[in-house]
Parts: sequence; C-alpha cells; structure tokens
Amino acid sequence: MEPEEKFNKITKSLTPNKFSRPSLKIKEVKGLVIHWVANTNSSAEANRRYFENRKNGKNNYGSAHYIIDLNGDIIQCIPDNEVAYHTGAKKYKPEVKEKLFNYPNFYTLGIECTHIKDSGEMSLNTYNSLIQLTLELCKQYKIDPLTFLFRHFDITGKLCHKWFIDNPAEWKQFKNKINELLHNNKIKPQQEEQKEIESLNSCSETSKIKKQEKKDNILSIISNRLMNLLKRFRRTRK
Ligand SMILES: [Zn+2]
Repeated sequence: MEPEEKFNKITKSLTPNKFSRPSLKIKEVKGLVIHWVANTNSSAEANRRYFENRKNGKNNYGSAHYIIDLNGDIIQCIPDNEVAYHTGAKKYKPEVKEKLFNYPNFYTLGIECTHIKDSGEMSLNTYNSLIQLTLELCKQYKIDPLTFLFRHFDITGKLCHKWFIDNPAEWKQFKNKINELLHNNKIKPQQEEQKEIESLNSCSETSKIKKQEKKDNILSIISNRLMNLLKRFRRTRK
C-alpha cells in the first residue's frame, strides 16, 4: 500500500476542561502513541464530540491530539504542545519508564484511528493518513520510528490498537514503512549516486587528457631526435 500524497488536516480544538483538555504543557514530544477508537464505523467528528462532552464530567477522563476519520481526514483537537489524556494508567510496562519516564502523557502525542471492522481493520484512507501523519510528526520532532512509536498496548497493556496487536507483522511493517520513508527523504541516495558518477567521470576525463599529453610528449621527443639525426646526416654529407 502506497500512501496518498496529501490529507486534509482540520484543527478543531476542544474547550479547555479538566477531563479532556487540561491545558497542561507537554514537556517534550519524544514519541507517538497509536490508538483505535473501539467503535466500528464511528467518524472522527463523533469521537471528537465524545471527547468534548467529557467536559460535563460524566464520562471520566480521556482524549487524544489527533483523530483520523474513515475517509482519511484528520481532526486535531488538542495542540501538540498540550497534554492529552490518552495513555495514562496506574501502572506502566517496565521498559516504558526508561523512554517516557513516570508519566508518558507528558512525552507523547496520541493518534486515534477510526476503523471499519470490529477487528480494528482500518479503511485504506485511514491507514494512508496514519502513515502520512506519523511520518510528518516523526520528521517534525525527530522521532525514531523503530523505537519511539508505540501502540497504547506497549505503554499500559490495554487492548489498543487492537488490529496492530492481533497482527504484529502489520505493526512491524507500519514502523518499517515510516522508517523507510524517513530514511529515503534524509539521505537522498540518487543525489549521492549522481555526485559519485560525476566525480568518476571527471577522473576519467583527466586521465584521458593525461594520456594525450604523454602521447604528445613522446611524439615531440621522437620528432626532435629525427630532426637531429637529419641535421647530422646533412652535416656528414657536406
Ligand atoms: Zn488507546
């Protein structure tokens, strides 16, 4: 699957409130956490509304920075520099502490994916936008996709994103894809290769010229000798 070139990103910030937009500053964006909305065929807009309505205090805490729609559109409902309540828990997996310290919500952005099946399978548009958004954020915050992309599951053990848990090869492929796209953009091997070819070409041009110079030298030496011989021959004849 190749990602589409572009996606629509819409900013529709939640009303600041203690349940879903606490207006706390993010300490540093070190990683990204991928979620599923766990509500088959619900739209990004419906999920945003759900986060917004948490301000009434009846649905506990919870939110995310981005929600990707079934059609691939992306709603950003919390700015990148603010905390969203997407991956908080009483206990975290032991290896998480080393990377994200005591409170991963201070160090990560949360991306919610809508899905077309109960298995968590996403539409192609959702998947492509997930690739593009993740790539963009990895570039922006210099995130290594192989070590700082997480499923919610990787942080707390929650069954989220279900599709990527039940299909670990898909998760691996997703991270590799981001890594590959990031890598290609950085190194630009074609340009490097072109430079190398040019320098090889210029080398061979130089050696051609040098060979020609040698030939010219030898010819001039031979012709000088011949001239001398001819002079001597003439002298002896006189
Ligand atoms: Zn989640």
